[in-house]
Amino acid sequence: MTLGLPAESTPAPDEAAILAFAASLGGALLRPGDPGYDDARRLFNGMIDRRPALIARCATAGDVMKSVRFAREHALPVSVRGGGHNVAGNALCDGGLTIDLSPMKGMRVDPRARTVRAQAGLTWRELDRECQGFGLATTGGQISSTGIAGLTLGGGIGWLGRSYGLTCDNLLSADVVLADGSFVTASAAEHADLFWGLRGGGGNFGVVTVFEYRLHPIGTMLGGMLLYPFDRASEVLRFYREVTQAAPDALAVYAVLLTAPDGSGPAVALLVGYNGPLAQGEALLRPLREFGPPRADLTGPMPYEQLQTLLDEGFPFGLRNYWKSSFLASLPDATIDSIVERFAAVPSPLSAVVIEPLGGAYGRGSREETAFDHRDYDYNLLVLARWEDAADDERQMRWTRDLWQAVQPAAAASVYVNYLEAGQEGAARIRAAYGASYDRLVALKNHYDPTNFFRGNQNIQPTA
Ligand SMILES: Cc1cc2nc3c(=O)[nH]c(=O)nc-3n(C[C@H](O)[C@H](O)[C@H](O)COP(=O)(O)OP(=O)(O)OC[C@H]3O[C@@H](n4cnc5c(N)ncnc54)[C@H](O)[C@@H]3O)c2cc1C
Repeated sequence: MTLGLPAESTPAPDEAAILAFAASLGGALLRPGDPGYDDARRLFNGMIDRRPALIARCATAGDVMKSVRFAREHALPVSVRGGGHNVAGNALCDGGLTIDLSPMKGMRVDPRARTVRAQAGLTWRELDRECQGFGLATTGGQISSTGIAGLTLGGGIGWLGRSYGLTCDNLLSADVVLADGSFVTASAAEHADLFWGLRGGGGNFGVVTVFEYRLHPIGTMLGGMLLYPFDRASEVLRFYREVTQAAPDALAVYAVLLTAPDGSGPAVALLVGYNGPLAQGEALLRPLREFGPPRADLTGPMPYEQLQTLLDEGFPFGLRNYWKSSFLASLPDATIDSIVERFAAVPSPLSAVVIEPLGGAYGRGSREETAFDHRDYDYNLLVLARWEDAADDERQMRWTRDLWQAVQPAAAASVYVNYLEAGQEGAARIRAAYGASYDRLVALKNHYDPTNFFRGNQNIQPTA
């Protein structure tokens, strides 16, 4: 069975239709020239400059349903915006209707059940702040201005992931507006096939208006940054490999090649988050604090909420961003040497190479329960280039591609969908992002969105 969808042949909306649509919404409908229009089309990645004909600033699920129906009726291309963080920029479309969920910030924690229902416009800062009031949290992204929506639908990697799995592993249900404008709740008990696809399949199947997450008791963490001189980078990364291979699930250590915060040139940092008894954490951190020794040790006990915002200052909206990433099954010496050699010539002080630790509960999540396929890798590598001047685009992108290319001998063919660039990575890379789940995702797309109404995303094309 496929959903009965209205024909898409009606011409573009006239002024009367647009005014009637605007009047029907609880939130504002913005058009080019309206106050707030340019703010509403600002994304994290300053390279993206798209101009939707209409931006529906949805206040409720009802607004979302009306927006989907309006776009269908008038054959408008659609994009869906959560936090606007995705570097591919698919949150906006040129000339169509952007369904902007960012005004939808309601949430309710149930402390007895240890769950939270969270509307899709929330950022991690907003959700963490509320949940921490109850001493609870779920796995969330590490820059607190990131939206919960896009991150959850693609998987969700964060400080708590080795303890509690991906963000999408902690999803209990989702309210979804489908391509025909109807509304369903997906969970293990209802629309279980859709629920599987929402957990790793990106925004391909509908607009999620509410996410319900499982929460965990989280209070003080032991965390922060250790900074080492760049001339020890190869040794630090070998040591990092040792530490991460032996780490308990409660310990997450990220390795980052970056320009030192004092601007003195390249450096290597280990970012640490330990989610367990402080005395045990102190013992686990001792070797990291003694190795080198570090140029700076900025680790200590801190509230989880603080750890979640520690890196924010370095990640403002509006810089030019170009990212390339790959999962890694291991971190061989040759890979380490290639990274260090090329990072020595980094052309922007804002760029970084990040090695994210996986394993632990990430690996225990089930492919049967979620569409997220990449469970067996120990690391995710992200080459994250950022700069300010558009005239520098080619040079910065070339450096990024060169570094990423150099690590390919040890890299998996698969890639994290949330780190994919826009179209330029191509269909094969999108397929690689969905891995072994791809065929099942296509079948789901054929069922829930056979006309590919939701195609402004890392798109799974229907074959129906
Ligand atoms: C600085 C930075 C740090 C990051 N850190 C992490 C991290 O620690 N861990 C991690 O896992 N990822 C991280 N990411 C990647 C992040 O997961 C993705 O960028 C994610 O898509 C952001 O979600 P968003 O809602 O802000 O994005 P948006 O750009 O608003 O949305 C991205 C896409 O998701 C879809 N979408 C969004 N909302 C909905 C919805 N409600 N219903 C249906 N589809 C929807 C749409 O297709 C949209 O194009 C980071 C990104 C940045 C820029």
